[in-house]
Amino acid sequence: MPEGPEIRLAADKVARVLEGKQIIDAKFGLPRLQGREADFIGAKVNALETRGKALLTHFDNGLTIYSHNQLYGRWYVVKRDAHPKTNRSLRLALHTQKHSALLYSASDISIWDQFELDMHPFLARIGPDILNPELTWHDISVRLYSQKFRRRSVASLYLAQDFLAGIGNYLRSEILFDACVHPAARPSDLSRKQLNSLGRSTLKISLRSYETAGLTNPPRRVAALKQQGLRRGEYRHAVFGRANKPCYGCGTSIQKDSFAGRRLYWCQICQAS
Ligand SMILES: [Zn+2]
Repeated sequence: MPEGPEIRLAADKVARVLEGKQIIDAKFGLPRLQGREADFIGAKVNALETRGKALLTHFDNGLTIYSHNQLYGRWYVVKRDAHPKTNRSLRLALHTQKHSALLYSASDISIWDQFELDMHPFLARIGPDILNPELTWHDISVRLYSQKFRRRSVASLYLAQDFLAGIGNYLRSEILFDACVHPAARPSDLSRKQLNSLGRSTLKISLRSYETAGLTNPPRRVAALKQQGLRRGEYRHAVFGRANKPCYGCGTSIQKDSFAGRRLYWCQICQAS
């Protein structure tokens, strides 16, 4: 299941051909949206925004197309009117003069007036997006300690989209390890220093994964592991997927356990509290 960084990378691909461009032709595949094409022809795409796993395509006519890929949706970017090889069903096509951005298989697509977007049931429910450039580490530590979240374990918070949107299973393990926080700890148990450190690690690891297309290990460690001839799957993460391998911090075997119903990897020594 893709997490925030992967969703944002897919959005970047679409943004490169749509942002600032005029829509020459459009097509909706879902019957309930057919007939709305005329609203978009001639409009310019202002920006593509991601909020958690939702993609928002904002137009200069005051409308936004909301799409959520769930498990199956997939964007293709091709030269204008080229057809990608796929048996999937086309749900949305946006054509500029030179390119076509095509969304296949997704069924959660809707059209919104921009001023009503916050009333969308999914968007109203989720927390700030981890890749939102305005989000600071301090915002995250304040949010951790807020009345609403401070009594839940960090292992469950770091899967909860109403806490932060875009975090998923590998980021959860990697962030908690980077911040040296025990998965069962609750924010109310943590010191101010630990809360700040968790806020910083949350931003740092999410951003690193986005910038490197999925690596959460620090660049220097990645370089050293590559030099030893390791493959991507082996140098990608510090703890995730590394059960029984030695911890990079202390050498203890990495532990694999189930927290909040999903597998979590951690070091009992480095994340003692
Ligand atoms: Zn360790």
